[in-house]
Amino acid sequence: MFPLQELPLIIQALYALPFGLIIGSFLNVVIYRVPRGESVAFPGSHCGACGTPIKAYDNIPLLSYVLLRGRCRACQAKISWVYPMVELWTGLGFFAVAYTRGITGQGIAEMLFVVVMIVLVMIDYRHQLLPNVITYPAFLGVIIFTAFQLGEPGPSSLTPLFTLSLSLKFWIGLGLLLIAAVAFYGVDLLDNALFGKYLEISDEEEEEDPLLSGIDEDRLLRQHNRVIYTTMVLGVVAAVVWGVFVFLRLRSAAADSVWVVASIEAIFRTCLGALVGGGVIWLLRAIYFYTRGFGGMGLGDVKMMAIIGGLLGWQSALLVLIIGSVLGSLTGLFLIWFGGSDKGMKTRLPFGVSLGLAALIALFYGQPIIAWYVSRLTP
Ligand SMILES: [Zn+2]
Repeated sequence: MFPLQELPLIIQALYALPFGLIIGSFLNVVIYRVPRGESVAFPGSHCGACGTPIKAYDNIPLLSYVLLRGRCRACQAKISWVYPMVELWTGLGFFAVAYTRGITGQGIAEMLFVVVMIVLVMIDYRHQLLPNVITYPAFLGVIIFTAFQLGEPGPSSLTPLFTLSLSLKFWIGLGLLLIAAVAFYGVDLLDNALFGKYLEISDEEEEEDPLLSGIDEDRLLRQHNRVIYTTMVLGVVAAVVWGVFVFLRLRSAAADSVWVVASIEAIFRTCLGALVGGGVIWLLRAIYFYTRGFGGMGLGDVKMMAIIGGLLGWQSALLVLIIGSVLGSLTGLFLIWFGGSDKGMKTRLPFGVSLGLAALIALFYGQPIIAWYVSRLTP
């Protein structure tokens, strides 16, 4: 498609690296402003301490931090090392994806996946929060990517579903897409119905996030709701567009059915992955509430795992849960050890941090690990 894809992978990766660094620089803005309900576009970057706008030549990813020795040019306030870290991390993520996948449809989707994971990890780390304004659109992106076959066609899973007639498969695919478009909202409603009473109790105990003091919460909520509803409308529109598109293709030429079957299979795989990933966490959340009366996992973790399972498949989702639990336990022990008292047990662990890191491991090493595991099972 692009002449870029003809180039050796290492060259493609070297092209992707600076893009990753620049996008990482933008992610710093997203990570800082989204929890505060501020626009990510306006105003331009400014120093957090003195408010001086940052000049373009002082806003070069990594390089500016090194040249300024980590201090604001105007007021000499220290700039957090987190900023260059996010830039470097995004740059290396893009490099690694381009080196393994090339700059293909699949590669670009995986770069966006890296972006979403980094943003969720950082916001969860800072605020113990996985915002709906990120998770809803990210899941929509996974659905559209899958349904419209923008990546490489996946392996045929030959599930019993696919012995059905093509028209029945089509209607099932369309139904799954429509459900997926509003699934997160359903999760929100059902979760509130099931665990709302526990949440009211823990809300009273919860302290205000000192990083977010002085924020107009009503405005933030309205703004977030707008994004949620827009995302759902777009999801339904995408499902209908897919339905019309596939319906017309099926009527005009039977040869297209290969594409259609691949697309429906992909939708099925994505929904299964999202269900397995999100379902396990949701079940753990239910067990926590019913046995202990307070939340262990947040609802954001459920949605995050649905995104991970949706893009990487159900086997990788299980792998992410295992790796994420190990990382999470280590973090938890660390907090109890150094945090003192039992407070560490009661506050919600930023599990999204562990899940995001595990997802990035699974993105690059998931297939070899799963292949190794399967080879151990089959003599
Ligand atoms: Zn300053």
